[in-house]
Amino acid sequence: MGTPALECPDCGKFTTDFANPEQLSDCVSLWQRRLFLRDWEIGVRLARHHELNASEWSGQINYNTERREALIDLLDPADARPNKTFPHDVERTLVHELLHIHLAPMGAQVGTPEQVAEEQAICALSRALVELARQIPEAEEKTAA
Ligand SMILES: [Zn+2]
Repeated sequence: MGTPALECPDCGKFTTDFANPEQLSDCVSLWQRRLFLRDWEIGVRLARHHELNASEWSGQINYNTERREALIDLLDPADARPNKTFPHDVERTLVHELLHIHLAPMGAQVGTPEQVAEEQAICALSRALVELARQIPEAEEKTAA
């Protein structure tokens, strides 16, 4: 199943290189299971850079903790800026945004030291989790669970 090429109204660039949508939704289910978020209704989509609230972001999340619903936008790899140290990684960004759900009850306000600490913790955790997950074959993980 191919993904249709979508033209960005801002820059005119086309995106064609993201894997099929099923792959993304499998990845979301897997991480919802790993992070004990299966009781959440989580919508995830790839977003072009003009669809994110800030141009430097690689993802964003809107959630409703009472209804346990969230909508996650992940930057389309076609729009990722070249970065040798931290190349854009859709899966890591997904895990990052999912971790925000767990920390939502802490209620860190935008622009406070608490929010900065939350971002730093989530960055470190998402990086470590994805790195570890890629070292453990899926079958082994299932047996251990
Ligand atoms: Zn974040």
